Amino acid sequence: MQAILDAIQAGASGDELAAIPLPDHYRAAFVRKDEVGMFEGVASADKDPRRSLHVGEVATPELAPDEVVLAVMASSINFNTVWTSIFEPVSTFGFLGRLGRESVWGARHDQPFHVVGSDASAVVLRVGSAVRNWKPGDRVVVHCNYVDDQDPSAHDDSMLAANQRIWGFETNYGGLADLSIVKANQLMPKPSHLTWEEAAVNGLCASTSYRMLVGSHGARMKQGDNVLVWGATGGIGAYAVQLVLNGGGTPIGVVSSPQRAELLRSIGCEHVIDRAADGYRFWKDDVTQDEAEWRRLGARIRGLVGEDPDIVFEHPGRNTMGASVFVAKRGGTVVTCAATSGYMVEYDNNRLWMKLKRIVSSHFANYQEAWDMNRLIDRGAIQPVLSATFPLTEVAEAAWQVHRNQHEGKLGVLCLAPTAGLGIDDPEKRARIGEDVITRFSTGARPASV
Ligand code: NAP
Repeated sequence: MQAILDAIQAGASGDELAAIPLPDHYRAAFVRKDEVGMFEGVASADKDPRRSLHVGEVATPELAPDEVVLAVMASSINFNTVWTSIFEPVSTFGFLGRLGRESVWGARHDQPFHVVGSDASAVVLRVGSAVRNWKPGDRVVVHCNYVDDQDPSAHDDSMLAANQRIWGFETNYGGLADLSIVKANQLMPKPSHLTWEEAAVNGLCASTSYRMLVGSHGARMKQGDNVLVWGATGGIGAYAVQLVLNGGGTPIGVVSSPQRAELLRSIGCEHVIDRAADGYRFWKDDVTQDEAEWRRLGARIRGLVGEDPDIVFEHPGRNTMGASVFVAKRGGTVVTCAATSGYMVEYDNNRLWMKLKRIVSSHFANYQEAWDMNRLIDRGAIQPVLSATFPLTEVAEAAWQVHRNQHEGKLGVLCLAPTAGLGIDDPEKRARIGEDVITRFSTGARPASV
């Protein structure tokens, strides 16, 4: 692996990279099938990825004709890695088993380990015989929509494909590793002004927010829309706020501390609600919601922007869904992609239909949506929201911090990249966009080893 890294750092050509033998094992972060039951009886919040997420060697899989082998320079923590490592809501080994039964190539994924991670910035090392548009040496980022394009259901909107999967969550050989194997139709050009770790954090979260707000399958935000964004300095929320501002809307960002409120203002979000300071309690107890609290939130929003939200960017789920449906304006849209605080949500259906509101479900993004979002990042119109960077050896600590809501924006993970700050190909563009603008989310809080 060192020979590959040395060649990348020395600017080796694609042919030179292609001539370096691939190792038969590589370093990766994975959970183990024989540990799936390890958290039985432990409360969700206390299930600790530092016990279940291991870094060790796995065998390099064979390359399928429509795939590429990547040298992963950096990756990031997504919430799906938290879910995998606490084995909730289900163990992801079930996904791997199903993929394993689907085809000969799918069988490679059904292993007693699951290499996690759904983001990467990387260099292409090998291409399969059916790959047309990419070659060894290309510097790329990866989106996580893993689709079998021989299925007709994948050809209108690939997120509707019958066997659509999320790479590194519902497939094996994810991005939190020194090597990865992905389908060629997951590749996009790496934004040339970003470091490896800045480029690695955007794929999953930014594309998800793009589909939810901008793409034709989501809420279709218009200029002038008021958009309530829960978790507005979190992974998807911080991209949502930028998209709303770019699209001529007005974000109302919800966060849970004065520091996050300040960070949010620094990216141009004028209307900020600190949910901790306001002390909202939408549930009186485990089974009863408090309509007076919904009203209090609605009044707060009207106090800020004078109107109800056209769109609510929803993902906390059980804790907030009742309030989200309540505060959306007549005819407004609640767009949801997740349920961090619980899947079994409850809302007042009377308020939904009588006020002609709609709930739109959304999940990741198709290739075109991911590509369009990557283009915005490459142009410097959307900034990465990297707050801190960890070495791969500390990936479990990073996952723990995301699980416990201790982070802002995104946590990057260095894989082959030996230090942070490498990988910038276009320093002039970086200077034009502005170092302070690109690094606004950086807390500087990096573990000593990085
Ligand atoms: P994240 O970085 O942890 O951010 C989530 C934010 O939500 C936090 O910053 C927190 O902000 C807020 N939050 C957490 N618990 C909350 C609660 N009980 N009530 C209100 N707000 C709460 O995670 P993320 O990457 O943004 O992902 C958010 C969710 O979306 C996760 O469940 C993830 O799995 C899911 N997701 C789904 C897709 C998809 O394709 N379907 C893609 C990406 C993410 P404050 O504490 O500051 O308010």
